[in-house]
Amino acid sequence: MAKRDYYEVLGVDKNATKDEIKKGYRKLAIQYHPDKNPGNKEAEEKFKEATEAYEVLSDEQKKQIYDQYGFAGLEGMAGGGGSEGYSHAFHDFEDIFGDFGGMFENFFGGGSSRKSRGEAANQGASLRYDLEISFQDAVYGTKAEISFAHNEVCDACKGTGGANGAKRKTCPTCGGAGQVRRNAGFFSVAQPCPSCQGAGTIIDNPCRECSGSGVQKKRKKVNVTIPAGVDEGKKITIPRMGDAGRNGGPSGDLIVMLHVTPHQYFERSGEDLYCAVPISITQAALGADITITTLDNKKIKMKIPSGTQHGKMLRIRDEGVPVQGTTRKGNLYIKVIVQVPNRISSKAKSLYEEISRTEGEEESPKPLSLSELRNA
Ligand SMILES: [Zn+2]
Ligand SMILES: [Zn+2]
Repeated sequence: MAKRDYYEVLGVDKNATKDEIKKGYRKLAIQYHPDKNPGNKEAEEKFKEATEAYEVLSDEQKKQIYDQYGFAGLEGMAGGGGSEGYSHAFHDFEDIFGDFGGMFENFFGGGSSRKSRGEAANQGASLRYDLEISFQDAVYGTKAEISFAHNEVCDACKGTGGANGAKRKTCPTCGGAGQVRRNAGFFSVAQPCPSCQGAGTIIDNPCRECSGSGVQKKRKKVNVTIPAGVDEGKKITIPRMGDAGRNGGPSGDLIVMLHVTPHQYFERSGEDLYCAVPISITQAALGADITITTLDNKKIKMKIPSGTQHGKMLRIRDEGVPVQGTTRKGNLYIKVIVQVPNRISSKAKSLYEEISRTEGEEESPKPLSLSELRNA
C-alpha cells in the first residue's frame, strides 16, 4: 500500500505551524488511541500512521529532510519511515494530552500524577443492603435488625497490612507509580503494576490475618429505624457502616434500600390509602351502617347513605399514611362495590319480582351522557 503524505495524514497543509501539526495529531490520537479502541485493527493502523507522521513533522531536522526528499530521504534514519524508534513522539504524549484536564483521567492510568498512590487515604466502599418490609411497616414505621458483612480494619496489623509492625515500602518494580508500561508492538500501554497491584507500595512481611490487605471481612448486626411513611425504593443511609477506608481513610456508608411487599387489601398513592368493600343491592338502595377495618386494625363505623351508587368513593379522614416530618396523615378512601347476587333464594326471587312490578322497568334504556357517567 502506498504511504500517504504525512501532511495529508495529519490533515494539515505544508505551511502548517508546529502548533497546527500538534493539534492535528492530537485530534487523531484521541480518536484512534488503542486504549479507546481495543481490538480494532483499523484504528490501530490509523493511530500508527498518525504517530509516524507526527514523529517526523514534529522534528525540525526530519521535517526538513521529508520536505526536501520525501520518504526516500528518511529511509535508514532512526525513527524515520520504519516501524521503530517512536520514543520521541511518546515523550510528547502527556504534553499533548496534558491540557485536556480531567477528560483523560484514565488515559494514562493515572500515570501523570507523580504521587505515590499507596500512601493516599481512601474512603472505603459504600455497601447496599436490600431490605424487604411489609406494607404496614412502611406506613407506620418499624425497627429491623439487619446482618451483613463488611471490611473492617484488621485488628492484628491495625490496617497497615504488615506483620509485627512491618512498614510498607516503595514498590521496586514500578518505583511507586503503581503502573508499568508494556510495549505492545511499537506503542506502549500503561497497565497496573503486577508486583503491587497498582498500590505503588509493597510489604515484605505481610500480616497473616489479612494477607497484607489491612482489612478483614466481618459480619455485623445493626438496628435500623424505619420511619413511618416510607415507600418503595426509599434509601436509609447508616453512616460509616460500609467497608473500612485504606490508610486511615473513612469508612463508606451502609445504604439500606427498602422494598415494600404489596398488601392483600390496601393500596397506596402518596399519603392516601385505598381499599374496596362490597355491599349488597339492598344496602346500596336502603342505606346501611357498616364497619370498616383500617390498615392498623381499627374498626370504624360508616354510614352508607341510601341510594349509594356502585363505584362511589367514601372518605375516612386521617386514616391514611403519616406524612414524614409532620403530625399530619393522609386519608383512607373506600370504593363501594355493589354486588349483585349470582344466586338467589326463591323467597328473594319473589321479593325482587315484586320490586320489579311496583317500580316498573325501563325496556329501552337511553345511554348515559358522559357527564352523567362521570358523576355516577
Ligand atoms: Zn492485618
Ligand atoms: Zn508496583
